[in-house]
Amino acid sequence: MRKIIKAKNIINGIADEVVKDKCIVIENGLISEIINFENFKPIDDDIIFNYENEFIMPGMVDVHVHLAFSGIPDNRSFRAESAELDYGEQALRGYEFALEHMSYGFTSLRDMNAPGKVAINIKNIINKKKLVGPNILACGLGLSVTGGHMDQPGWGSHVNFTNMTYPCDGPNEFVKGVRAQLKDGADFIKTNMCVSSTYNLEYPYRQEMSNEEIEAVCREAKMNNVKVASHTSGGPSITIAVKSGIHSVEHGHWLEEETINLMAEKNTFYVPTLLVNERNFDFEQDKNFTNSKNWKWLQLSREAKWLSLEKAIKSNIQIATGTDAGFMLPHGSMNYRELEYLTKGGMSNMQAIKAATQFGGKLLGINVGTIEVGQKADVLVIKGNPLNDIKILSDKENIIVFKDGFIFKKTHKMH
Ligand SMILES: [Zn+2]
Repeated sequence: MRKIIKAKNIINGIADEVVKDKCIVIENGLISEIINFENFKPIDDDIIFNYENEFIMPGMVDVHVHLAFSGIPDNRSFRAESAELDYGEQALRGYEFALEHMSYGFTSLRDMNAPGKVAINIKNIINKKKLVGPNILACGLGLSVTGGHMDQPGWGSHVNFTNMTYPCDGPNEFVKGVRAQLKDGADFIKTNMCVSSTYNLEYPYRQEMSNEEIEAVCREAKMNNVKVASHTSGGPSITIAVKSGIHSVEHGHWLEEETINLMAEKNTFYVPTLLVNERNFDFEQDKNFTNSKNWKWLQLSREAKWLSLEKAIKSNIQIATGTDAGFMLPHGSMNYRELEYLTKGGMSNMQAIKAATQFGGKLLGINVGTIEVGQKADVLVIKGNPLNDIKILSDKENIIVFKDGFIFKKTHKMH
């Protein structure tokens, strides 16, 4: 049985213009044909969906989420959640968050570190078709140096966490970290190569992993045919990371000219995560929330981020949308703001949509993100034109979500 989406207006994720009057044919969860209206010959049991006024676009991709975390902004509450919720609870809640992303049109996600195997478990249960959900790639535990960005200090010495992240020191331990994540079913490797620093605000970033550690991770990942994503902040160490072969630069507040040129040459992705940076400014400066040095850092990084984005757009770097949902912001409901910020940074609405579709799909390396034959039938029907106003994506009532050719509706109603 075929399903046909008969659409007047299609943003296919590739073309710069709206594609008109096509029938998107769906068979076995995939787009099997795209036919002009006049050439379409219906067969008996076709199910035809007619969309005359709506805009069709590919399901979107959020390449930077944390399904194990709720996004609660207060740091102490954030830490308490991690301490109090068992893995099973985190996974059940994370699955709910994944559905929340999907109801806002984000049908593919990349999880960037979750305790235990929480995100891997969510992914597996969806892939085994036991539960309905988005396509997920997961890194398992992020690899971090001891006391580094993801292995934060500040706990009592009697407190001991296991499997929150994977602390490694020295090239050999990083190699082991890569192997351990792959053994657990990770799809890619997440590291923290350089990080923010408030020690001396003249240098608001610093390298965290040594060159040898960076090279060891990239070498081992390459041998296993998986990609490396890295949390970065700024400075020349991003160049070292790109040279070593990382696939995506996350955050990257301060990108130097040399780094950008190298990223262009090596097709490295940039995931600017503008929303999480801007999100800090949704809150008044609150002494309990952040100290003055951190506040200054946020302002410096904000300035730098817009400049880096401008340079990256000019240099045609592949840019994908990642929100950091779960960290400082909720899952799904604010995702559209990442696209809005990309337009504020110089992209057209069409370019921002491509960042959230075509380039997100390319970054994940799976058949999503465009409306083309052979792609998964992850298709959105938008009640309105997002090329005129991205904000239309802020209301899930404006979005009908087809996942693998089926209409998805998140309901937990009791009847
Ligand atoms: Zn993150």
